Amino acid sequence: MIKHNSSLGRRSLLFSLILFCGTILLVSASIVAQPPSPRSVLGFTPADDRTIADWTQIRDYFTKLDAGSGKVKVQEFGKTTLGRPMIVAFISSEENIKNLDRYREMNQKLADPRRIPEGGIYDQASTILDNGKTIVSISCSIHSNEIVGSQMSMNLAYELATSDDVETKEILENTILLLIPSSNPEGIDIVASWYRKTLGTKSEGTVPPELYHHYAGHDNNRDWFMLNLKETQAITKLYWQEWFPQIVFDVHQMGQTGPRFVIPPFYDPPNPRIAPSIVREVGLIGYKMAADLQAKNIKGIATNTTFDMWWHGGFRSAPYYHNSIGILSEAASAELMSPVTITKEQLQRTRPARGLNSPLENVISHPDPWEGGVWSPADINQIEIVASRALLQMAAKFRRRYLENFYQLNKKDLMLDGSVPKAFVLIAGQPNTEAISRFLEILRWQGIEVHEMTHELWVKHSPEEEFHEIPLGSFLIFTDQPQKRNVLSLL
Ligand SMILES: [Zn+2]
Repeated sequence: MIKHNSSLGRRSLLFSLILFCGTILLVSASIVAQPPSPRSVLGFTPADDRTIADWTQIRDYFTKLDAGSGKVKVQEFGKTTLGRPMIVAFISSEENIKNLDRYREMNQKLADPRRIPEGGIYDQASTILDNGKTIVSISCSIHSNEIVGSQMSMNLAYELATSDDVETKEILENTILLLIPSSNPEGIDIVASWYRKTLGTKSEGTVPPELYHHYAGHDNNRDWFMLNLKETQAITKLYWQEWFPQIVFDVHQMGQTGPRFVIPPFYDPPNPRIAPSIVREVGLIGYKMAADLQAKNIKGIATNTTFDMWWHGGFRSAPYYHNSIGILSEAASAELMSPVTITKEQLQRTRPARGLNSPLENVISHPDPWEGGVWSPADINQIEIVASRALLQMAAKFRRRYLENFYQLNKKDLMLDGSVPKAFVLIAGQPNTEAISRFLEILRWQGIEVHEMTHELWVKHSPEEEFHEIPLGSFLIFTDQPQKRNVLSLL
């Protein structure tokens, strides 16, 4: 009896030990797999009044989110002017995150259809269109006192990594998001340190008395065709040599007394080098954002005002020349991370903008004016999250359509076109070779193909003219290349 009992006892002890160990294993497994909330890492919820996360904290959060979630993978893709690491968070389903290299290679083929062999036993283009993912990039706070985007990025990432509603699943399944918490990390630190220093003083919420980019200040967002800054170079490489996003969303803020949020469609004029279908797709995403914001009763959303589609130098405008859909949003600002009260009288005094006479005007492009009140970083955060999700929903729901349009535009640009020059020539033997080589480097960095002449070439511009020689060592930039629109627009 005793023996039997003790044997039972030993067995049940052993069993309890196994159970106990099992519980420990289960508990530790669930700790490892748990994506941390921003609050649990930072001690506050990003975009709450009078809180600010600097670049070290933002990076730290994304690193921990990567460790805690199979849906997030953080990569350092370059260094800033003063040596800070730049990061991108890839966010997608666990399965997609495991196969990032494969999806990148597939998308590179859509960006350059010459890499897809014609014919064969199966149609490789259709296979890619069937199985590829829409590549979307969202970038925040390139203008660093437009600070809320950088804080919002943590909330957005956490929400995508942890929500298991149907809509989020569809987004994660069908898109790969390249989320850049800030394209100007130095500026985030300049603003964060100034904000902390002045918090509770009469200077609280004012902008720092120094440039928030070491060389360029606000003009860091004028650099996207000339690539003078390390930040621009790193992102240009990530986009136009590696990932070729179909959609690029650049998140900004503007002054305090205009509409609450300005999004596409933009104001005239469009640049004729941009594919007309891209102009339409930009408008479509803007309207989806506007409709979703309106559905949540968020007032003061304006389209068709202020910002045009003409110039080449902006974060969201350079993508147009790569057949990519560039979206800009401009939220009304608070006072850095402090709330502000705006009166109706202040709104009445706001100067008219192109396409909108007054932030109190009720027109088709602005059908529900905001009439004043308290305006907080949390309001900006909410608007930017709704807008980001609207964009991601479109990217997910119409995945194949975005890929197909992108592929077809790139394919069409490879064809010879009688209405434009066949090639541009950089004649050898010009003075200032250093400037020439820098110029070529800038073009190549954007993915433009440049050929050095290895055979003599004789040309004439009209039937009456004598042939003249283009010397060996000259460079040719053909227009029938995937970067056709970029080449034509720049040259
Ligand atoms: Zn801005």
